[in-house]
Amino acid sequence: MTVEPTRMLTGPGVLRVVWLPGSDRLQGTCHCGATYVADGPIEVWDWLLAHPIGHGS
Ligand SMILES: [Zn+2]
Repeated sequence: MTVEPTRMLTGPGVLRVVWLPGSDRLQGTCHCGATYVADGPIEVWDWLLAHPIGHGS
């Protein structure tokens, strides 16, 4: 396989954003297992897109 997945934002185990029932909050989950809860999708995606910096090669 020569597909380069590093820029893909979809698919299992990559980046996920889920709504937390009972609240207005969203939780983002990185493929490395880190999670972040924020009040809106913009904040979650800002974190997700910035967070992978530092994962290493
Ligand atoms: Zn991560």
